[in-house]
Amino acid sequence: MGIKLDSSGPSMQDFHCGNKCTWCDGCGDYGIWTAVKRALVESNLHPWQVLLCYDVGCHGNTSDKLLGYRFHGLHGRVIPFAAGAKLANMKVPVLAFGGDGASFSEGIGHLVHGIRSNYPITFVLHNNANYGLTTGQASSLTWQDQKMNSAPNGMPEHTLASMDFIFSLEPTFVARGFSGNIPQMTTILKAAMQHRGFAFVDLLQACPTYNHFATHDYLLERCYEVEGHDTSDFKKARELAVNTHDKIATGILYQNESQPHFYERLVPRQGKATTLVEEVVKQDVSGLMEKLV
Ligand code: SF4
Ligand code: MG
Repeated sequence: MGIKLDSSGPSMQDFHCGNKCTWCDGCGDYGIWTAVKRALVESNLHPWQVLLCYDVGCHGNTSDKLLGYRFHGLHGRVIPFAAGAKLANMKVPVLAFGGDGASFSEGIGHLVHGIRSNYPITFVLHNNANYGLTTGQASSLTWQDQKMNSAPNGMPEHTLASMDFIFSLEPTFVARGFSGNIPQMTTILKAAMQHRGFAFVDLLQACPTYNHFATHDYLLERCYEVEGHDTSDFKKARELAVNTHDKIATGILYQNESQPHFYERLVPRQGKATTLVEEVVKQDVSGLMEKLV
């Protein structure tokens, strides 16, 4: 199916791709995939107006399950690619998707610097608390003592306190959703795309094949939407994000629009109306090459 090139508004069908989904029955990827398409359509974006960057993982296979400019990169490296693309062309909205395995282990350095740099991109964490693509290996977000394929006697390490860690980096946008709540994920993603800087969106995702602890039913029972919460209250937002033992707060937990993003802080870019890609000039370097031979 090709991309429709006309002036009418986008539709879900515009993002349709004929490739068959290969996710397991009941996988949270189906809900997130749908919410992303809805958020793009409701943001009035056509497939040719957005860049979608995917890390390696089950979620990464979304890269050929919808249309749009898509990139499927190396494990743990989605943030630097997405940030580089955005800084080169600030006119294009950029979303980066990563799993909990990649983002909180081999890619954790990129997550740290993505947040502290406040790159103007949306980062969506597919958080199923394990490495699903490699058949149920424990990740740093798997619950301690859980028996996984890579830890048949139970995961020995303690679980990384991911939200406490994220808040320690002074983020400017933090939200949490659940793969079983498509309307809420859609609302969160739309707000994240509008955010001035780096938007961190934690989507708790069911993985019925390998995650038998934080199941769809477990999440359904515990997740609740925050109401009347002051999203500028950093301390309260951190408390809501971290305290997940009995109930799990979902929605936009924290937002600070007062901080300039990375590009706005780049002195040579200030006052420029053009993007870097628009300033690329072809240079004839053949003379240089002749001097070398
Ligand atoms: Fe989804 Fe888990 Fe199956 Fe991967 S292994 S497709 S995350 S259910
Ligand atoms: Mg995972």
